[in-house]
Amino acid sequence: MSPTKVILIKSPEYETERFREVCELLTDFNGALAFVPDYYEFDRKMFYFLRYELYPVHGFEYPSEDVALPFDQWRTYPLSWHELFTLCNFYREQNQVEEKAIVVLLTKRKNGLNWFSAHDRLRNIFVHTAEWENYTPVNPRYPIAYQVVENVMQILMNLHIDGIQTPYFHDSPIGCMNDFCLNKSQVIIKLQTANICPTCLKRMHQEKISAQILEQVKSLFAGIRQQFVFLSDVPTALSPIHVDADGRIMLSDYGIELTLPPQHKTLYLFLLSRPGGVRVNQLLEHKEEFLEMYKRLKPKAERPAIEKAVNNLVHPFGVEFNVVRSHINKRIAGLLTDSLAAPYQISGRKNSTYCIRHPDVTIEFAY
Ligand SMILES: [Zn+2]
Repeated sequence: MSPTKVILIKSPEYETERFREVCELLTDFNGALAFVPDYYEFDRKMFYFLRYELYPVHGFEYPSEDVALPFDQWRTYPLSWHELFTLCNFYREQNQVEEKAIVVLLTKRKNGLNWFSAHDRLRNIFVHTAEWENYTPVNPRYPIAYQVVENVMQILMNLHIDGIQTPYFHDSPIGCMNDFCLNKSQVIIKLQTANICPTCLKRMHQEKISAQILEQVKSLFAGIRQQFVFLSDVPTALSPIHVDADGRIMLSDYGIELTLPPQHKTLYLFLLSRPGGVRVNQLLEHKEEFLEMYKRLKPKAERPAIEKAVNNLVHPFGVEFNVVRSHINKRIAGLLTDSLAAPYQISGRKNSTYCIRHPDVTIEFAY
């Protein structure tokens, strides 16, 4: 039987080097599924909705999705699934791709429903390649490769989200490839178990997925899982915090960045620069410092918007302060295990000082 061809393409903003890493990982396991990378470039003029004229000024990065964001004309909207699959179909036509081949688009652009990946009934797949570092310190190529394989298998199993196939899409996670993860951190659990449940395996047999493909997927999943196993062996040493000249907060030894919206980052950087901590009713005295910092972090923001964000943050009642603090702490808890997170979080109590207890901080960022 001829191998099933899985063609990997990318949208222009996804860095070629990162794309290559994912492709190499997958082609290392080539077998009955033949992964074929293509560095095809979409015509930027033709796909006006991609707004590539904004490159490279606009990185199409979105701040955290769990805060309401003010209107920002530069943010542009997430792409609809239809737009993403249109790219796949266009590629198919241009390159006369055989119908049964699977086309996978890797993209940093967010999609309308904010999914990690999805496929349609025409054997097209998209996988979102950004923000994995918010959920795991493992190199993103592993979860991305997993998402590719997961969708390929779902296509071969003839499973589609617009059909009613509840026995195969598991609403409550059971550690199977087909766990339907509403909560993104659940995806990581799925990668760690690297498993396919008996019900889904049965369906694979019914759909006549060859033993060679199953073997290949098994070794791929095992390879990906191995990355997580190693990770849990890592000693629980604290990584230093390094703030670079652009204000990026790096947990350098873990190789992860703590990404925060500008207002949140302003508070975090301020506290990093004050190891002795500060009381909420003292924040107002540092308003100018907050303003300068915010402006450096988001040069395009309008003065009134900055003023408002800062005024709220330094207000002596501490309402906004508490919201922001709790958001930052939650973000850190999502990045690190419980035992590691605390020194990076903002600790303190009402009517007392708040601080970040981490002892090893270097700051290059000047404002
Ligand atoms: Zn299953």
